[in-house]
Amino acid sequence: VPVKNIRNFSIIAHIDHGKSTLADQLLLKTNTVAERDMVEQFMDSNDIERERGITIKLNSARMRYTDSQGELYALNLIDTPGHVDFAYEVSRSLAACEGALLVVDASQGVEAQTLANVWLALENDLEVIPVLNKIDLPGADPDRVISEIEDIIGLDCTDILKVSAKVGLGIDDVLEAIVKRVPPPKNTVDKPLRALIYDSYYDAYRGVICQFRVVDGSVSRGDRILMMNTGKEHIVDEIGVLAPNKVTVDTLYCGEVGYMAAQIKSVKDARVGDTITLSKNQAQEPLPGYVEVQPMVYCGLFPTDSNQYQDLRVALDKLQLNDAALRFEPEISTAMGFGFRCGFLGLLHMEIVQERLEREYNLQLITTAPTVIYKCVTADGQELMINSPADLPEPQKRRSMAEPYVRLEMVTPTDYVGNLIELATSRRGEYQEMRYLTENRTTLVFDIPLAEVVTDYFDVLKSRSKGYASMEYQMIGFRENDLVKLEIKINGEPADALSVITHRDNSYKLGKQLVSKLKELIPRQMFKVPIQACIGVKVIASEQIAPYRKDVTAKCYGGDISRKKKLLSKQAEGKKRMKALGRVEVPQEAFMAVLNLD
Ligand code: GDP
Ligand code: MG
Repeated sequence: VPVKNIRNFSIIAHIDHGKSTLADQLLLKTNTVAERDMVEQFMDSNDIERERGITIKLNSARMRYTDSQGELYALNLIDTPGHVDFAYEVSRSLAACEGALLVVDASQGVEAQTLANVWLALENDLEVIPVLNKIDLPGADPDRVISEIEDIIGLDCTDILKVSAKVGLGIDDVLEAIVKRVPPPKNTVDKPLRALIYDSYYDAYRGVICQFRVVDGSVSRGDRILMMNTGKEHIVDEIGVLAPNKVTVDTLYCGEVGYMAAQIKSVKDARVGDTITLSKNQAQEPLPGYVEVQPMVYCGLFPTDSNQYQDLRVALDKLQLNDAALRFEPEISTAMGFGFRCGFLGLLHMEIVQERLEREYNLQLITTAPTVIYKCVTADGQELMINSPADLPEPQKRRSMAEPYVRLEMVTPTDYVGNLIELATSRRGEYQEMRYLTENRTTLVFDIPLAEVVTDYFDVLKSRSKGYASMEYQMIGFRENDLVKLEIKINGEPADALSVITHRDNSYKLGKQLVSKLKELIPRQMFKVPIQACIGVKVIASEQIAPYRKDVTAKCYGGDISRKKKLLSKQAEGKKRMKALGRVEVPQEAFMAVLNLD
């Protein structure tokens, strides 16, 4: 297929608006995948994706399509992950395209993710084609949604496509529109090779498989290639296209999309956003937009069974081969024992890694509360990035502290505007603007600390809007604030797993919550046990556990001896999982419960 007959596009949508269903329909209509081979949601390749109904890893598929004039086209669909944690991968996938289908649910309308994705697409100069999906639903309101797309995004909707991806209605029009409206790639086949990596994953047999878009020149099997940003060289030993199963070819030319294997040992050596060129005929400059993504959210991961420490290390090593954004380093805690401090792009990324460790590697883990990364300038002017409260220098050795901020965009029916302003303000959000007022929907924009968003913000937003509001955010940088380290002491011993970095204004409430929760959870001892929340040497909240010897069999009045035995053996088991903090035995469950506070 000549360059002028190639179309590279992706599909962008708010979650649940039908991106995966539409992708499946396009594969079916072009006979790329036969009906009998169609697993539901073909493009979502792993179990966690299918279960959660989200796309984490992107997939690509080349389709052959003959248009109404009998002309043959190659349509390359580059799917994108649908979550803000992976915004960088989304932006690189979009950079590999000339156009994007913007799918909007005709019964719902424009949502926060719709907006965030559209802004990314427009930044990459893509032709955006709006598609109204789910027109089969009785609640579909195409006219309202069209006016939202026109008013809010400013897209011309005169030729808007109306489809039902589920029923298979209007799919031919989508294919025609891709051919007619998405521009073909520029023909720069004579320039030195530049190919953009938009995804890479680790395969146990062949090493890393990169997915890339050839922007200039061409690349063949046997070529010696150079990754322009990481400087690594490799020899291409397999190259091909995903159709959507792998089909090998000898050469891929400018405008084409494909995959390669080159005995690359880790995805760190073939990073998303890097530019591939030829060692012998190097391009002058890499393609723009390469960034090494930084983890923004950290937590401690500890095996419940300390014998699993080595297994956990091996599992993290393996996951990292396939996940360039995952970081980890050993961490020791008096309460939890040996574990790892791990860094993630965001909460979803964190949950996915935890789930994989538990599911694929059979590990049982305790997770400490997630914390963001802080910037600390020391008294002697050094800048430290702090990802664990334990690493924070003493107050007198700190000159300033800064925390990451995000711009938060909430889209909501107008009825809930008051609730959501209150929510954002109570989380230290700073009002920026209220935008794009259509009749019944409003966009609220706040600048807010990431730390306030990575807790339960999304759940509260949903409950205060009866499930109707949506949100999305992007990093806007660090800001100085009055941040302190809140420490918990049990019988005078610091319980390191429970210390947190927090804003001074939040510290009193949080301190109170922590100590009263611990009072409930720690069994009485032979002696009096003070529980304190402190900032430096200052105690800001405290409780006491009165001395008492607990008789677990007391509540079994009557003579059921087997029940008594059961309780006693249960208690013995519990003892094994007791953590000694000085002279106080604290059940591990107490830490876990406190860490799941709220
Ligand atoms: P994604 O999150 O954007 O990938 O959305 P999915 O493709 O997973 O679709 C979300 C839900 O909407 C699924 O239950 C689909 O079956 C359903 N769905 C998708 N397209 C349509 C449609 O055209 N009509 C109806 N009624 N449901 C649809
Ligand atoms: Mg999906």
